[in-house]
Amino acid sequence: MRTNEVLQAWGKILTGRRPSLSIEITKECPLRCPGCYAFDAAHLGGETELRQLSDFRGDELVKKIVAIVDREKPLHVSLVGGDPLVRYRELETILRELDGRGVYTQVVTSAFRVIPAEWGRFKLLNVVVSIDGLQPEHDERRKPATYERILKNIAEAKVTIHSTITGIIAGRPGYLEEFLRFWSARPQIERVWFSLFTPQAGATGAEILTRAQREFVVKDLLRLRTQYPILEMGESLIHEMLSPPASPRECIFAQTTQTISADLKTKITPCQFGGNPDCSQCGCIASMVLAAVGHHRVAGPLTAGHLFRASAQIGRAWKSTKDAFAGPAPAAPETMTPAFQILQGEVPPSQ
Ligand code: SF4
Ligand code: SF4
Repeated sequence: MRTNEVLQAWGKILTGRRPSLSIEITKECPLRCPGCYAFDAAHLGGETELRQLSDFRGDELVKKIVAIVDREKPLHVSLVGGDPLVRYRELETILRELDGRGVYTQVVTSAFRVIPAEWGRFKLLNVVVSIDGLQPEHDERRKPATYERILKNIAEAKVTIHSTITGIIAGRPGYLEEFLRFWSARPQIERVWFSLFTPQAGATGAEILTRAQREFVVKDLLRLRTQYPILEMGESLIHEMLSPPASPRECIFAQTTQTISADLKTKITPCQFGGNPDCSQCGCIASMVLAAVGHHRVAGPLTAGHLFRASAQIGRAWKSTKDAFAGPAPAAPETMTPAFQILQGEVPPSQ
């Protein structure tokens, strides 16, 4: 994270807002991936499912998304689904609007459709393509978005490859290295990220990593990051995979990200997974990045996480005071100044 991004994010937290917003812009997806959390019955809390929501399209979708962004004023927006490329015409306009507002935007897709070369003009955009392992495993799980089709669809683009490591591939020596070798050789790939499969509480199955598999993967990633610069994962981030946040309350990512589903009303809690995720087995890269930032010492025993929690409390109190008065916004809390001063002296490491 850059200094100005950290400071801007802290400003949002101190005023009771979440600096990051994730929106499921459609409920549709041409894939049926096993283990997909978006279409899991528990994703929206159990009373309804993603496919049962009414979603939007055309100008209405664009206007509603832009209105949410103008209202929430996030620093970072993730556009997910379903697959956001189902609405590729609307997406193009949304990306233009967000770029014009200086919002960092991420589109997470299976790349079942062409990523247009013209999107390269959006300097704040990161297109993340989800890949489930090497070709045999991936093609089996994610057809029709097969390796062959993805390679064709990203031919003119610049993308990030994100792969979720499951228990099925975690114990196979050399697998991650072969994956990195394959994607390193392609000029369209800017970076590779890995997450570990995160189960719902009480779930069982071969996708869930055992403790031994988790330790093996962490050791492997620490080695591979020095040999494959395309693996853009800091050492401290990788270490966090061994001790994920104990609960959503301890998870800085969950506390700083608001997630909205395809009806553009339903909030997904406690994080993008929805339902009742098992935080003790979390391996989500976004959560690990922010956990690593949270463990960064800013002064003696004081960590950025301590500052975050104190700031979030101040922000909540300030927001409820503001909501109670429902009049002109009071001035920002005085405590903003010391927090910002500390951060300006010591900024969490880049990830
Ligand atoms: S592409 Fe994504 S949203 Fe679609 S089924 Fe697969 S995991 Fe779920
Ligand atoms: S991102 Fe991971 S640690 Fe954070 S709330 Fe979700 S499951 Fe828990």
